[in-house]
Amino acid sequence: MLFHGAAWLLLLAFLHLVVCAEDYYKILGINKQASDKQIKSAYRQLSKKYHPDKNPNDDTAHERFVEVAEAYEALIDADSRKIYDQYGHEGLKKRQQGGGGHHDPFDLFSRFFGGGGHYQRGQPRGHSVEVKVGVSLRDFYNGRDTEFQWDKQQICEECDGSGSQDGAVDVCGHCGGHGIRIIKHQLAPGMFQQIQTQCDACGGRGKTIKHKCPVCNGNRVLRKPTTVAIKIERGAARDSKIVYENEADASPDYVAGDLVVTLTEKEPDLELDNPEHVDGVFFRRRGNDLFWREVLSLREAWMGDWTRNITHLDGHIVRLGRERGQVVQPGQVDTVENEGMPLWHEDGDSVYHETEFGKLYVEYTVVLPDQLESGMEKDFWATWEKWRGKIGVDLHKDSGRPEKPIPDEGVERDEL
Ligand SMILES: [Zn+2]
Ligand SMILES: [Zn+2]
Repeated sequence: MLFHGAAWLLLLAFLHLVVCAEDYYKILGINKQASDKQIKSAYRQLSKKYHPDKNPNDDTAHERFVEVAEAYEALIDADSRKIYDQYGHEGLKKRQQGGGGHHDPFDLFSRFFGGGGHYQRGQPRGHSVEVKVGVSLRDFYNGRDTEFQWDKQQICEECDGSGSQDGAVDVCGHCGGHGIRIIKHQLAPGMFQQIQTQCDACGGRGKTIKHKCPVCNGNRVLRKPTTVAIKIERGAARDSKIVYENEADASPDYVAGDLVVTLTEKEPDLELDNPEHVDGVFFRRRGNDLFWREVLSLREAWMGDWTRNITHLDGHIVRLGRERGQVVQPGQVDTVENEGMPLWHEDGDSVYHETEFGKLYVEYTVVLPDQLESGMEKDFWATWEKWRGKIGVDLHKDSGRPEKPIPDEGVERDEL
């Protein structure tokens, strides 16, 4: 038993060692070749996931939150990443002894999302921002990983959101740092009215800056084009929304609101959206179904014996056609099963389910020739004349109208 206990302790100690030395790339879930953008994106996702405010009383999440910040700081700086890649954790430790070291993980979080690094606790929240992204039908059909840009308000990196060039922020002398001033009016002897107003010297912030940050001009924030990665899932509904939590405008004064992206369907651009020259760009979509108009000549509609190959949105071929003698009426609609949009599934393109598809509706338009060659016209005319008397169409008979007027059946009518 004693031996067992000791072995357990050893094993625990060993595990602890392993946990301590966990690879920074692994912590962020990225590979060694990851770009700065991928590092930032991994940090954004994981720091929100493990933030202590979202995981109260969960020590593991808190540890993760700290580790994610550590890993981010180690890898986002080119020099420190180089040292880490060559000498690992030990190399970085030595470097930190010479100055630098870790920052508060909550400071780092607030650099990304604003609001002093915390979510709840009565923190004011910024507005949500709605962005519309135009997606081609082809991308709705195939699914696509892409990105878009928008002008996002970001916390100034130069001054870390202080607005000050030298980092010095003074308490406003006019309001004593309260951001408000109380003005007393005497209404009558011994009678006062108190009015509270925002301090105009500091704009209500309670702080003043002597040397403004030259980058943000003392505003602490600035708008910059920001790239957001977006995953359009196969068969996503038109006008469906993707919510990026806390990715809207950032500010030191509030927690960023959500960025809400609406996927609208854009008009097909034949040049840009159609590198494979698929016919499908002309499809129209309704829900999970697709619509297509096919034009037939008189001969095809009437006599049959024709085929069409439509190149679908992913390049595969849909074959339409009729045997000789099969008539297609103008306006007739064929229903082709399983050639509509992929049905969106919450598991995405996982191996655990087979993608199902909606329907494709093909509507036929028949075009009559403007003019026939004179020889052909004579032949047709003769053929018509020959057959007209024998099996010509009897419009009266086919109309379903009765032969004689319906008898009055004894109803008396007064003559007027
Ligand atoms: Zn003031
Ligand atoms: Zn600044």
